[in-house]
Amino acid sequence: MALVQRIPIFSSNLRIRKTNSTNPSRISSLHYKTQITSSSSSSSPFTEKHSVERYQRDQWMYKASLPSPSPSSNQKDEVFFRENDIASQLPELKKLLAVLREKRENGCRGGDCGPGDVFLVGTGPGDPELLTLKAIRVIQSADLLLYDRLVSNDVLELVAPDAKLLYVGKTAGYHSRTQEEIHELLLSFAEAGATVVRLKGGDPLVFGRGGEEMDFLQHQGIRVQVIPGITAASGIAAELGIPLTHRGVATSVRFLTGHSRKGGTDPLFVAENAADPDTTLVVYMGLGTLPSLAQKLMDHGLPCDTPAVAVERGTTPLQRTVFSELKEFAAEIQSAGLVSPTLIIIGKVVELSPLWPHYTKESSCLVETR
Ligand code: SAH
Repeated sequence: MALVQRIPIFSSNLRIRKTNSTNPSRISSLHYKTQITSSSSSSSPFTEKHSVERYQRDQWMYKASLPSPSPSSNQKDEVFFRENDIASQLPELKKLLAVLREKRENGCRGGDCGPGDVFLVGTGPGDPELLTLKAIRVIQSADLLLYDRLVSNDVLELVAPDAKLLYVGKTAGYHSRTQEEIHELLLSFAEAGATVVRLKGGDPLVFGRGGEEMDFLQHQGIRVQVIPGITAASGIAAELGIPLTHRGVATSVRFLTGHSRKGGTDPLFVAENAADPDTTLVVYMGLGTLPSLAQKLMDHGLPCDTPAVAVERGTTPLQRTVFSELKEFAAEIQSAGLVSPTLIIIGKVVELSPLWPHYTKESSCLVETR
C-alpha cells in the first residue's frame, strides 16, 4: 500500500530572474509582470521579426508593391508581411539561378563543372560569440544563405553584403516554406554551382531536421558538409552555470523533444523511463507539453522537489528564466508567460547554478513511498 508522507521543502516566493547574458553574476530580480510587458514590446533577437528589413537591405523587395510595416503591427500583420516578403523574392531567386547557370555554362567549357557545396551550419543559441571560426568562414564565403527562425539577427550581421539571404523558417501555425521546397532550393542552387549555406539555430543535427536535408542532398549527389553549432542545451546550461552532468549528482543527460511528428508516437511516453533522479533532462520545444510531462515524471517517481528551469531566448540580451521545483514548474512558467523558444532543464544539477533562488518560505510536497 502506498504511504503518503509529508516532507518539508522550501518553495520560492521569487522564481523569475533576468540575467545579463555576458555576466551571469549580475542578476536583477524583476517582478515577472514587468518583464512580460517589456519583453513583448521589445524586438526579438531572432530573425522572424526582422526579415522585412533585411530583405530591404538586400534590395530583394519590390518596395512599391508592399505596404510598409507599421510599428503597431500585430502578429497577424507580421505573418502577412512575411508571406508577401517571401513571395516577392521568388522572381529574384529565379533570376539569380538563371545568372548562375549562364555563368556556369560559359565558364564550364573545359573547366570544372561539378555542383557547388552545401554547408549545414549550426549558429548556436543566439549569442554570436558562440559561433565557431569555421562557421564564420563559411558564412562569409556563401553565395546564398537559407536561414531559420532561431538564427539570431546578430549572426546574420556577419553575412557578406553581396550574398543573398532567404528566410525559410517555420513558426507554429504556418510554414513559410515546406521542407520539400527547402530541399529543392538547396538542390537547384548547388546544381548551378553556388556555395549554399543552410543556417540553423543551435546544432543542425539536434532536433533541426538537418539529417533529412543531408540525406536528400547526398542522394542527389551533392556534397554536404556539416559545421556543428553549440546546441541550446550546452549554450544555455553554460550561461546559467549548470553542469549537465556532475559527479555524484547526474551521471547522464538526456535530450528530449516535447513535440512529435503528426501521427507519431506520444513523446510523453518517455516519461516512464526518463524519471531517473540521476539523469538531467533537457526538453526542446517542450512548453506546450510540459504540464503533462511534469506530472508523468512525478507519477513515475521523480521527486516533486526536483529543481527545474525554463529559459526563454537563452544567451540573448532578452533571456528570461523561471526557476522552480517540479511540482510548481508548469504553473510558474504559465504565470510568467514564457514563449518559444524556451528550453527546459530538469534535474538536481539545476540547483548547482549560482542563479538558483534561495528559497525562503517553507512548504510541503506529497510523495508516495512504497
Ligand atoms: N537545433 C537546435 C534545436 C532546434 S529545436 C539546437 O541544437 O539548439 C527548437 C527548440 O530549441 C526551441 O523550441 C527551444 O526549446 C530550443 N532553443 C533553441 N534555441 C534556444 C534559445 N536561444 N533559447 C531557448 N531555447 C532555445
